[in-house]
Amino acid sequence: MTKFKLEYIWLDGYKPTPNLRGKTLIKEFESFPTLEQLPNWGFDGSSTQQAEGNSSDCVLKPVAVYPDPVRTNGVLVLCEVMMPDAKTPHPSNTRATILDDEDAWFGFEQEYFFYKNGRPLGFPETGFPAPQGPYYTGVGYSNVGDIARQIVEEHLDICLAAGLNHEGVNAEVAKGQWEFQIFGKGSRKAADEIWLARYLMQRLTEKYGIDIEYHCKPLGDTDWNGSGMHANFSTRYMREVGGKAYFESLMAAFAEAREDHIAVYGPDNHMRLTGKHETASIHQFSWGVADRGASIRVPHSFVNNGYRGYLEDRRPNSQGDPYQIASQILKTISTVPTD
Ligand code: ADP
Ligand code: MN
Ligand code: MN
Ligand code: MN
Ligand code: MN
Repeated sequence: MTKFKLEYIWLDGYKPTPNLRGKTLIKEFESFPTLEQLPNWGFDGSSTQQAEGNSSDCVLKPVAVYPDPVRTNGVLVLCEVMMPDAKTPHPSNTRATILDDEDAWFGFEQEYFFYKNGRPLGFPETGFPAPQGPYYTGVGYSNVGDIARQIVEEHLDICLAAGLNHEGVNAEVAKGQWEFQIFGKGSRKAADEIWLARYLMQRLTEKYGIDIEYHCKPLGDTDWNGSGMHANFSTRYMREVGGKAYFESLMAAFAEAREDHIAVYGPDNHMRLTGKHETASIHQFSWGVADRGASIRVPHSFVNNGYRGYLEDRRPNSQGDPYQIASQILKTISTVPTD
């Protein structure tokens, strides 16, 4: 028997954006535990805005398990928060009620800032560094500094070793801003892995004295880019049948459902979706081929393949909940008839 360190990870009840929480349970198993072997556990919901003090127990129900490459005999146990009956999802549990379809594929591009002492990493104590231009996909000390890439590489290695489906990383447009991409088949799978990758990044940067700033426009109304979490998506029908007429109906449905999408695409998105800095206005829906100023960018490959493949919704922001984002996309797609 081996004593495993099980890190039970969940989302708390803070609004508009939940925080990641985690605590460790030590348990013996013959070998690396399966999901079925992992018991429910509990926590004090009054400390996480998930319960009142007089009846504060919430239940943690394991829903996904990954190795934790950083800890000896470590296990990452992603959990849903349940009511004390262990059957009813807690109101904060967005994962429990979303639409899912394993033939719907999602690729999220998570942008974020490294923050040190309340400023983006690499910013001088006062004022600003040289304007945007050389930082995006940049190389060299003046462009990316001395520590960011080390963290990005370490995070990438940890995520790959954990089995998260990272697809890539790059330095972003603002100084101190980076991105990783995660692809998954099914909204739950892709979104679970975004939350776990966020968790691993936050845990990793503790030792560097660095925070991850997910706000979509941390530098406010300046000439510095905000952070998005573009959602690339495709259903089986979009990949295999598609066609121009279906695409046009799909875009009409997205235009119609604009407000429902914006409602779950992350807080403060009006600060980011201004029409500047490679964004579209929050007030209008638009699409365009290879257009990074549109709500939905249609890749050249999509048009060249007879309107088949995936589309990129550029509106979701870096602080959004990927469960709700993916679910809303599936909800709108489901209103469009296929034949
Ligand atoms: P860009 O920065 O040019 O917008 P990225 O390379 O950062 O693009 O991200 C594009 C993402 O699209 C990839 O990481 C991948 O996860 C996702 N993707 C590729 N093919 C599909 C597909 N068929 N369905 C859903 N997502 C896809
Ligand atoms: Mn205690
Ligand atoms: Mn990208
Ligand atoms: Mn990007
Ligand atoms: Mn993109």
